[in-house]
Amino acid sequence: MADTIFSKIIRKEIPADIVFESDTILAFRDINPMAPVHILIIPKQPIAYTTEIDGKRDAPLLGELFDAANKIAKEQGIDKNGFRLVINCGDNGGQEVPHLHMHLLGGRKMKWPPG
Ligand code: AMP
Repeated sequence: MADTIFSKIIRKEIPADIVFESDTILAFRDINPMAPVHILIIPKQPIAYTTEIDGKRDAPLLGELFDAANKIAKEQGIDKNGFRLVINCGDNGGQEVPHLHMHLLGGRKMKWPPG
């Protein structure tokens, strides 16, 4: 898989405002925040697109992404009022970085439908 900006952040080759790290997951603030709280949660294992996910094989990793999202939402104080989790998938989904990532957005009222 091609190296992305996120691989460089995982390897600490470029700086990021990291809010959570485990052996398998990294979470850091989005450089171009769309909400008062905007954090990207990524598996360290490089999965480019959700189409590469095997539900059974990758269930533990996906569970860890959601666990991290809930833990970070609590730490950031956005769990009570609610938040939004987004995974942009491929071109039509608006995915720019081909390394699976979950956006955690909160701190304001979200609109629907998304743009
Ligand atoms: P997506 O459009 O779903 O692929 O989201 C990619 C996200 O990565 C965008 O929200 C960007 O603002 C964010 N991003 C790109 N480069 C960096 C970086 N160096 N540090 C933090 N966030 C970044």
